[in-house]
Amino acid sequence: MHCPFCSHAETKVIDSRLSSDGRSVRRRRECLECHERYTTFETAELVMPRLIKRDQSREPFDESKLRSGMVRALEKRPVSIEVIEESLARIIHKLQTMGEREIPSMRLGEIVMEELRELDEVAYVRFASVYRSFQDITEFQEEIQKLREMTGGTRERDQLSLLPDAKMRKKK
Ligand SMILES: [Zn+2]
Repeated sequence: MHCPFCSHAETKVIDSRLSSDGRSVRRRRECLECHERYTTFETAELVMPRLIKRDQSREPFDESKLRSGMVRALEKRPVSIEVIEESLARIIHKLQTMGEREIPSMRLGEIVMEELRELDEVAYVRFASVYRSFQDITEFQEEIQKLREMTGGTRERDQLSLLPDAKMRKKK
């Protein structure tokens, strides 16, 4: 690229290092004309697949929407924002490396549920209840039952908070 200060075409790389996650390269450059220094980042351009909704309409992937959905499911749960961000990054990486141009939004929901199940079982059930828009309480209880069988029992004090609150139910 041209120097951002004087637009000169030639620059030299004076330092180059890989980011800690190995997904980008940071280069320190110096302009051969004006000698100003600046930094560039090189990352692979991986395209996010578009989501196919239930009614077959398509919509672009929305990271902030996914983040707020996860944060809502994890509200008042003992999971730090750093852990949520790491989980979000894993989900995005998974979507990018699927190599699909379009995926059903159901598939994204399943990936998110897999992540939440690892993070926090209450958040998992909260998310699942909203995501799958349970038709009635029976379906919801079946999900809790399945979870109990998987984890070998839900702690007594968590049972009340397993019920989705009205605010979450409205949001579909
Ligand atoms: Zn320059």
